[in-house]
Amino acid sequence: MKVYADNAATTRMRESALNAYTEAARQFYGNPSSLYTVGQEAKSLLEDCRGTIAALLGAQPREITFTSGGSEADNQAILSAAKLGKLRGKTKIVSTAIEHHAVLHTLNKLKKEGFEIVLLPVGTDGIVKVEDVETAIDENTCLVSVMFANNEIGTIQPVEEIGKICNEKKVLFHTDAVQAVGHTAVNVQKIGCNYLALSAHKFGGPKGVGVLYVRQGAPLYSLIEGGAQERGKRAGTEDLPAIKAMTVAMKEAVESIPETEKYVTYLRNKLISGLEKIPHSALNGDRERRLAGNVNFCFEGIEGESLLLLLDDQGISASSGSACTSGSLDPSHVLLAIGRVHDVAHGSLRLTLSADNTEEEIDYIIEKVPEVVTYLRNMSPVWRDLQEGKRQFIL
Ligand SMILES: *Cc1c(COP(=O)(O)O)cnc(C)c1O
Repeated sequence: MKVYADNAATTRMRESALNAYTEAARQFYGNPSSLYTVGQEAKSLLEDCRGTIAALLGAQPREITFTSGGSEADNQAILSAAKLGKLRGKTKIVSTAIEHHAVLHTLNKLKKEGFEIVLLPVGTDGIVKVEDVETAIDENTCLVSVMFANNEIGTIQPVEEIGKICNEKKVLFHTDAVQAVGHTAVNVQKIGCNYLALSAHKFGGPKGVGVLYVRQGAPLYSLIEGGAQERGKRAGTEDLPAIKAMTVAMKEAVESIPETEKYVTYLRNKLISGLEKIPHSALNGDRERRLAGNVNFCFEGIEGESLLLLLDDQGISASSGSACTSGSLDPSHVLLAIGRVHDVAHGSLRLTLSADNTEEEIDYIIEKVPEVVTYLRNMSPVWRDLQEGKRQFIL
């Protein structure tokens, strides 16, 4: 059996999005900046897409900037707020220890430029405390950046409460909603954010395209210089087929949330109950306040990398930590942030489901994971030490 269970890394493109892509590439090949009809038709399609995406987010069309994906959107939001902050003498940024690297590495760059970066801890539940955000904000703070939902453990952050505090304290608020959009309800008015990042390939759209929402009045500086596309804030001829495909995928994903969220939550809970039976294992992140499709476990005495390679042999595509860290020996910063020690954090497995997954596939995973965990434990010197009492079990 083949089971794709790594939807937090990327998703299979929806059939409707693929069709929209080829149709737009074939028919709307004009440059939206050209004045003749073929160009203006492309321009008109581009603006239709902007309008549809804005409506799905509760935003105005002019607040939507098309980008090359989630990473670019995160970079542009943070660097824009920081640039205005610096001009006004405010150089503190408040964020969390569990952000995606697109946020963390941008903040690191700013730190080297003299910004004070505060990365708030999260509890063992993988959720940041609203009070901690509130206390961290002072007169020197120019930006708060807290993700909507975590890409590794799926935990949903209290973004609406944080948005309220940021508005009261008149501090810009960015949220990386890349894992949330298309999977759970996301509305920029409810969140009260000034910036929001989303990425098409996380909800059945193409890779290499995304959106930065920027509330009217919030600063926006370009990362890429050149033509006047995107009101001069993002140079480069727009990838119209990708934008159209993203729009179709997003509309379909958002409109089906009521059914898919329920169905995927059912699959997730079944999978969690099945994997919990494995001795010396633990679910990572809050059981309830997590994305419908996210299952993330630690299994003591094994290496996550070996586990996922052996699962691959069984036809199961899964992940250990985030896609960005696999291949490196550093354990996931998210698992460390929720208090997992290095050895335990190394034995992690992330399975992220979508509405394409079937109950039979879940049964198959529930059958295979324990087999592979047992196999690996039987060859593990760490496991032998644990069995012989030379080491203490943590989980
Ligand atoms: C995937 C992801 C990103 C990066 O998006 P790309 O479109 O791949 O650049 C950023 N943040 C989160 C939370 C993600 O899951």
